Amino acid sequence: MPLAELDPQVAEVLAGELDRQRGTLEMIASENFVPRAVLQCQGSVLTNKYAEGYPGRRYYGGCEVVDVAESLAIERAKAVFQADWANVQPHSGAQANAAVLHALADAGDTILGLSLAHGGHLTHGMKINFSGKNYHATAYGVDESTHRIEMEQVRATALRERPKVIIAGWSAYPRHLDFAAFRAIADEVGAALWTDMAHFAGLVAAGLHPSPVPHSDVVSTTVHKTLGGPRSGMLLSNRAEQWGRKLDSAVFPGQQGGPLMHVIAAKAVAMKIASTEEFRDRQARTLEGARIIAQRLLADDVASAGIRLVTGGTDVHLVLVDLRESSLDGQQAEDLLAAAGITVNRNAVPFDPRPARVTSGLRIGTPALATRGFGAPEFTEVAEIIATTLVRGAAGSADDELLTSLRGRVAALTEAYPLYDGLAQ
Ligand code: PLP
Repeated sequence: MPLAELDPQVAEVLAGELDRQRGTLEMIASENFVPRAVLQCQGSVLTNKYAEGYPGRRYYGGCEVVDVAESLAIERAKAVFQADWANVQPHSGAQANAAVLHALADAGDTILGLSLAHGGHLTHGMKINFSGKNYHATAYGVDESTHRIEMEQVRATALRERPKVIIAGWSAYPRHLDFAAFRAIADEVGAALWTDMAHFAGLVAAGLHPSPVPHSDVVSTTVHKTLGGPRSGMLLSNRAEQWGRKLDSAVFPGQQGGPLMHVIAAKAVAMKIASTEEFRDRQARTLEGARIIAQRLLADDVASAGIRLVTGGTDVHLVLVDLRESSLDGQQAEDLLAAAGITVNRNAVPFDPRPARVTSGLRIGTPALATRGFGAPEFTEVAEIIATTLVRGAAGSADDELLTSLRGRVAALTEAYPLYDGLAQ
């Protein structure tokens, strides 16, 4: 029975969300639009199959077909990231990360990651996350004046804390990391190095960002951010002899039961796409878009409204807007952009005086719009819409007339780049 007949309320949710995605500009840095082939895998009969274990060594019968999907996903992931070993079973980024700590450390061991308040992730040691409850979580931050991760400071913290695991990686930081320097510090203090490349994995896959794989003991990632695949996680390593078996058993049975075979098939598809020239072009447009937006937000009219960029620019797929010296807080700026038809998330900036619910910043990302087909001309227009919204918002003059005209400009862009054309949900 079709969904619309069986459950009209949920059918309405699906249709409403499709409309929302089509009619707005999606600029949440961690989001993307999966291709139809990924939707097809995720809505397939593979969701019915239990397959605890790994290809060729399952605890259930009837796994010979889904084994092919998982083997393809593993081989393709290894090829895309030039890694010797991969585990494609983590249900999510957070579960991939739980498995990493499970394998690399024992409960109570010291771990060292980027502070959540400076752009780290919950799973890197936040107090009420498993990582902060089960491990002795310590943190390095960004420098107070540059807002960059300064490796001498990371080294000093590592020498003081003597962690078992050092974590490189972030959720909100607009610059590259120095993976070789992280490796040297880990070696100096006898720690394992875990890099969480969830945000920038797509750029790494395209060769447009340094790869952490050669330097790290293990690399975790989500598959759904810049990589543009199904919502899920993945692990990679070039030190499989030391960590492979431990990591496999930390994922299953350590953290998870049956793998989601429909999602794993979708990961195989995402990895196939990630090796194409179109994918590289999309990642290049993602970077170009972020640079265009950064450049526009550094202009005089924006700066004189007290609006700054964390680190003064970007090397990646996002910009972090610092509103501390403007009349707007993060919530107000997020709401204003939503009223103009642009979806972003408010985000704490380093040394943010406001609470996490409000914040003094915005995180603005370009992956989803690059997937939608945007290039330099479209990102230039998007940058202009964002700048106008924020400058007029800060001046208290973002009235209905302005917002109506900005929504019209957003509509012109969304109509020029139709999303999931012909799809009905
Ligand atoms: N790691 C980093 C760096 C992230 O930014 C995120 C999500 O935002 C995750 C892990 C967690 O991913 P998930 O939401 O799939 O659990």
